Amino acid sequence: MNRTIDQLVRPNIRALKGYSSARHEFTGRADIYLDANENPYPTGFNRYPDPYASGVKNALVPIKQQPSQRMVLGNGSDELIDLILRIFCEPGQDQMLVLPPTYGMYRVAADVANVEVVEVPLTKRFQPDVPAILGRATERTKVLWLCSPNNPSGNDLQEGAVRDLVENFPGIVVIDEAYIDFTGRESYSRWIGQYPNLIVLQTFSKAYGLAGIRLGLAMASETIIDYFNKVKPPYNINELSQRVALEALGETEAMQARTQSIIGQRALLAQYLGGLPYVERIYPSDANFLLVKVEDPQGLYQYLTNKGIIVRDRSKQMHCEGCLRITVGLPEENESLFRALVDFTGSHNS
Ligand SMILES: *Cc1c(COP(=O)(O)O)cnc(C)c1O
Repeated sequence: MNRTIDQLVRPNIRALKGYSSARHEFTGRADIYLDANENPYPTGFNRYPDPYASGVKNALVPIKQQPSQRMVLGNGSDELIDLILRIFCEPGQDQMLVLPPTYGMYRVAADVANVEVVEVPLTKRFQPDVPAILGRATERTKVLWLCSPNNPSGNDLQEGAVRDLVENFPGIVVIDEAYIDFTGRESYSRWIGQYPNLIVLQTFSKAYGLAGIRLGLAMASETIIDYFNKVKPPYNINELSQRVALEALGETEAMQARTQSIIGQRALLAQYLGGLPYVERIYPSDANFLLVKVEDPQGLYQYLTNKGIIVRDRSKQMHCEGCLRITVGLPEENESLFRALVDFTGSHNS
């Protein structure tokens, strides 16, 4: 990296003086709050939430092994993805780099922000093509998106390739670890002290089973986190979500037990699928889903839909010809899926 983080940030954001709310200006404890034009009658939710969600972040410190100054929470990872673009990418001028097939939100957020998307496909084994990626990076390529484990392929990216990219990409490298709890490896957040251009994203939507509360986590150097805090809406994490997240963080053993069960079911499902004559390939998964190549993806998709089982047709995505993406469900749901799959003999019976 030859540019500092401040130099990578859009000039208007560098100069920005963020909104200072009542809850920013006074953070101690008082008896009477007459500073925020809140309603004095207690409804349980008449007060604005903590703008920094400090309770949730403090509970995350021992779990993520990161100081809270290196964390920011978002209204889902989706909000954090959007904030990254708004902090670093000048609309109509800067670019970002994605490695298809990958998570669709990076491109949607870029299209909304009017940021050009450069695509460097993953290899056929769904690994980054490091020389091609570095060859496409220019002064204007501000952000590189890595998704590991990758959605929709399910595999972890090779650590050596990830390190090469974090070390040599001349901009911000985001590693989206939405599925980290389903892998055996440690989070790349352990590299944050070493690489100021690294942002690691995680979410409460997958292993924590809390997609409904919309809570995502970004971990990065303090310099980057300070920009997030300036740009984000002050009360982006609502009180209900903060309370539910805190409760869940007090019950991590339960979360880990459910995660282990999903990992076990993933292996069982892969074994089942391997015995079906029309299944051509089951890609190795480090996530809570399987990418499966079949003879007639559209026919099978329709057949399952008619039986009330919805999977994702990914056959139109790069390197995913013939592929369906199947999320690992409850044991009884996986059994129902398997019973339906055994009865499928081709498009003529759908
Ligand atoms: C599911 C998923 C997320 C989660 O997004 P949220 O907005 O936090 O629900 C993020 N990244 C990837 C790659 C995903 O598959």
